[in-house]
Amino acid sequence: MTVKVRFAPSPTGRLHVGNVRTALVNWMFAKGQGGQFVLRIDDTDLARSTREFEQGIEDDLTWLGLVWDERHNQSKRFDRYDAAAEALKATGRLYACYDTSEELDRRRKVQLSRGLPPIYDRAGLSLTDQQKAAFEAEGRKPHWRFKLDGRRVAWEDLSRGHAEVDTASMSDPVLIREDGLFLYTLPSVVDDLDMAITYVIRGEDHVTNTGAQIEIFEALIATGWAGVLPGFAHMPLLVGADGQALSKRLGSLSIADMRDQGYEAIAITSHLGRIGTSDPLEFATSIEALGQGFAFSKMGRSPARYDTADLDRLNAQALHALSYAEAQPRLQTLGCDLGEAFWNAVKPNLGKFAEVEQMAAIVRGPVAPVIEDVAFAEAALRLLPETLDDQAWSVWTQAVKAETGAKGKALFMPLRLALTGQAHGPDMAAITPLIGREAIQKRLRGEAG
Ligand code: GLU
Repeated sequence: MTVKVRFAPSPTGRLHVGNVRTALVNWMFAKGQGGQFVLRIDDTDLARSTREFEQGIEDDLTWLGLVWDERHNQSKRFDRYDAAAEALKATGRLYACYDTSEELDRRRKVQLSRGLPPIYDRAGLSLTDQQKAAFEAEGRKPHWRFKLDGRRVAWEDLSRGHAEVDTASMSDPVLIREDGLFLYTLPSVVDDLDMAITYVIRGEDHVTNTGAQIEIFEALIATGWAGVLPGFAHMPLLVGADGQALSKRLGSLSIADMRDQGYEAIAITSHLGRIGTSDPLEFATSIEALGQGFAFSKMGRSPARYDTADLDRLNAQALHALSYAEAQPRLQTLGCDLGEAFWNAVKPNLGKFAEVEQMAAIVRGPVAPVIEDVAFAEAALRLLPETLDDQAWSVWTQAVKAETGAKGKALFMPLRLALTGQAHGPDMAAITPLIGREAIQKRLRGEAG
């Protein structure tokens, strides 16, 4: 049986690191074993879903390299959900309820005051046809609940091991709202069956849901609906560097923003694909390599720690690994393609790709030199080698050291400040020949050049 998984985002916002981790784990799990990855746009809520967000999801996934094999919109499948609802109604598993939210609230409070769990009392189940007709005559519309078996639903979770949910402790879930809207629960089950999904992989916030959904899967299959109950994996949730749950802060961690901030796709996928696993948090050469190395057995039960400092480190690693051929189109876009020697000289210093512009400015000038000791600069100017080859820096600095007696930082920092105008920057040995003799002479004289 081919592995087939799905990522089912709602197009009600941009993808954030939490969604993308779910998408990525699905993708890695499937692709690592030659399986298929389905993108399923969960847009049954027509009022909140937008075409722009849908496009944004596709753009973000594509940018990250999370290519899908199949793509569906739930909004195009209402006939299937209607059919499933009818099948469940016919077997008595889906029943009409007319309770208003005020009535439900009041009854919950009474239950709580008596020390009882606030579980739906199934008032809808005992309504006579006459009572239902009376509600309808009042203008009330039914919402529809799934009648749970009230048992221990168990499954072998790929991530958590043996998992159990006691559906007796849950209210019968509402599957269809009174305005006719299908909540995500039933469409998700119908699609997983129709699309032959073999594993549902999602965050551990869905564990309780899974208990109810497994009952729905089984109830539908019992009506003769084609398909097989999938396996499940519930991943530990993301926490921030402070160990606090990220759920409330996720909205501000959109992939689109991270792309704008200059993060590399492979740094993001390396980070999100490896946090919470036993693999070292190193950058992966490709998303395919990430998929090859992924296994649920490497994923612990503790939360995955999302730390921007780690992401920054992986981003720098990703840039260091970029060859000139890979970097060149991007250098050209920025107007900074100063050749292979330049790229190799500056890439070890980049945290973000766009910083290459500052590096190019050092080579091109004009740079406002910083000279604190004029005599030192004059000596350096006099001793500047005729040809600036790759030995030039070492020859030059040794000569300056011999004449001035300066060494270590006292030798290198004044030269760096004079040549680049900054206290930090690229490797001077590599950058000096690129700046060129004429500009160096100007800068040592204290002129902008
Ligand atoms: N749209 C649902 C969500 O984002 C999908 C959950 C699932 O994977 O089943 O929570």
